[in-house]
Amino acid sequence: MKLNELPRVRFACLPTPLQKLPHLAKVLDGPRVWVKRDDMTGLAFGGNKTRKLEYLIADALSHGADYIVTGAGFHSNWCTQTAAAARKYGLSVVLVKSGPEEGYGGEGWDGNHLLHHLMGAEVKVVRPDEFNGTIEETLEELEEEGHNPYFIPVGGSIPLGAAGYINAVLELYKQSVDYGFKIDHLVHGTGSGGTQAGLVMGSRAFSTGINVIGASVGYSSKEEQSQKVMKIIEEAREELDFRTPVNEQDINIFTDYVGGGYGHVTEGKMEAVRLLADKEGLMLDPVYTATAMACLIDLANEGYFKSDENVVFLHTGGSVALFPYKEPIRKYIQEEEIPWSIPDWSPDRE
Ligand SMILES: *Cc1c(COP(=O)(O)O)cnc(C)c1O
Repeated sequence: MKLNELPRVRFACLPTPLQKLPHLAKVLDGPRVWVKRDDMTGLAFGGNKTRKLEYLIADALSHGADYIVTGAGFHSNWCTQTAAAARKYGLSVVLVKSGPEEGYGGEGWDGNHLLHHLMGAEVKVVRPDEFNGTIEETLEELEEEGHNPYFIPVGGSIPLGAAGYINAVLELYKQSVDYGFKIDHLVHGTGSGGTQAGLVMGSRAFSTGINVIGASVGYSSKEEQSQKVMKIIEEAREELDFRTPVNEQDINIFTDYVGGGYGHVTEGKMEAVRLLADKEGLMLDPVYTATAMACLIDLANEGYFKSDENVVFLHTGGSVALFPYKEPIRKYIQEEEIPWSIPDWSPDRE
C-alpha cells in the first residue's frame, strides 16, 4: 500500500489521546470503554477532517492551487476544518453549503456558520438541488479569472482523505499495545464514509481484528451507506495501491440512531450528549458524535459487547454544533417539551 509516499503537510496534533471512560462504563455495566480524542487534532476546534486534510491540502499545494472549493451542509464541520487548513496554508476558500431558502443572517451566525465567516471564506448558501451546479459555476468562474482552484468533494471522502484514517488505525493500534489491551470494537459516526473506509482498510491491512462500527448520521439504508464506503475502498485499490481483500461483512453499519434524518434531535442523541457531559466532562455534538454514542449505549444495553471486551469510541469532533442546538438542549435539561424536529438546514428535511 502507498501510504508513506503520499504528499502530506503536518498540522494535526498527533497522536491524539486515548482515554478511559470509567464513569460511562459503570453506567453501561458492560465492557471497558475508551475514547480516541480526534476532537483534539488542534486546528479550529479539531475533528476527524483534519487527518484527511493533511493529504488533501498537500495535494492541492502540489498542484499549485490558490483556491480551495468545497461544499457540504449548512453547519458543516468539514467546511470549518477545510477553511482553517486552507487559510493556514495561504489559500483562499469558497464554501458552497446547502441550507435554508434565504441563508441565515443574524441569529443564524452561530456554530460552524459563524466560524466559516470568521475565517474569511466566501460562503454561498443554496438549496440542495442547486448544490452541484453552483460548485461547477464557481470552479468555472475562478478559472476564467485566472485562478487555479482545487476542488474537494463533501467530507474529503476520496482515497487521499481516507488515507488519514488508515494512519489513524496504526496510531490507535500502537496506543492499545502500549496500554496492554486489545481493541475489540471501534464505534464512530459515519456520513460521507471516508472515515469508515480508512478505518476498515487500516484494520484489515494491519490485521488488528477490530470490529469497525459506523452509526449512520444521515437518512440512508444500510446498503446505500455500505456502498458509499465500499466505493472509496475500491477507488483506493488503484489510487493507494490498497491490496487487502475487504468483504461486505467488514462494513458494519447501524442506521437506527439517526431518527428522521441528518441533524434530527432525538431523545437518544440528547441523552448521549447529556450523559457524556455529566459523567465524563466530555462534549459531544448533537449531529454526529451523539448519534454514534447513542448507538454505543444501545448496543451495550442489548448485550452486543461482552463484558471483558474493549470498546473504543472515536470522538470525531464537531462540538461547536452544541450552540446552534442550545434551545432543544436547554429544554431537555429543564425537562420541557421538545419539538423533535429536523432543522431547516438539514438536507434530509425534504
Ligand atoms: C464528518 C464527520 C463525521 C463523519 O465522517 P465521514 O468521513 O464523513 O463519514 C463524523 N463526525 C463528525 C463530527 C464529522 O464532522
